Amino acid sequence: MSDTILETKHLTKEFKGFTAVNDVNLRVQRGHIHALIGPNGAGKTTCFNLLTKFLVPTAGQILFNNRDITAAKPAQISRQGIIRSFQISAVFPHMTVMENVRIGLQRALGTSFHFWKSERSLARLNDRAMELLTQVDLESFADTMTVDLPYGRKRALEIATTLGMEPELMLLDEPTQGMGHEDVSRVTELIKRVSAGRTILMVEHNMNVVSGICDRISVLQRGAMLAEGTYAEVSANPQVMEAYMGT
Ligand code: ADP
Repeated sequence: MSDTILETKHLTKEFKGFTAVNDVNLRVQRGHIHALIGPNGAGKTTCFNLLTKFLVPTAGQILFNNRDITAAKPAQISRQGIIRSFQISAVFPHMTVMENVRIGLQRALGTSFHFWKSERSLARLNDRAMELLTQVDLESFADTMTVDLPYGRKRALEIATTLGMEPELMLLDEPTQGMGHEDVSRVTELIKRVSAGRTILMVEHNMNVVSGICDRISVLQRGAMLAEGTYAEVSANPQVMEAYMGT
């Protein structure tokens, strides 16, 4: 199998004449934690929306495992193993943490209603949900109402729900945004842990997180790819420094 899991070729998105993503060639290597960074308005969110097919590109191609997925529908994308972390709003606040993970799993398995009538199936579902909660250190919060979870723990719940869908490539939208130092460390460590055996592409603003766990970094500026490389490489790039200082 090729080392490249995800590739975009000349990916472009225009909004009424404004080019938000401009001829982007992105290459993500299998097994890596890859960061997509750039000043506000650089086109990171638009890129994610193109990758998950929330938006249709104006031009260019998206290849996943060497297969052209440019014309695929969002549901086909997730079936193929590209899963974007759920937004917090997609987690049901008035259900327990365990219930949220179970619902996510049921949805991911797509099994029929009758399947869950069997006690054995339910027990398996509960076991898997508990396993996922343990993976993200939320086992002691299993019976907590989601609305009562501290903010950092909600992101961990999102990650658990995403893991339940068995992603081959996980897309994380600013996973540490709005967090205090302690939560940032916890979530960073968690991302590192769950990256074993999969690939992660994340939009992240916190450079300590990027330098700490990301293997490769792609820098966008005004829709175009400005630089790509390791943290040491991109942080030493004068154009990257200028792009950040200029904001
Ligand atoms: P980032 O995530 O890097 O902050 P975005 O991808 O959100 O950047 O936005 C890139 C540019 O595209 C911005 O200038 C933004 O205003 C513009 N943009 C994003 N979505 C739309 C849209 N639906 N219509 C018009 N312009 C948009």
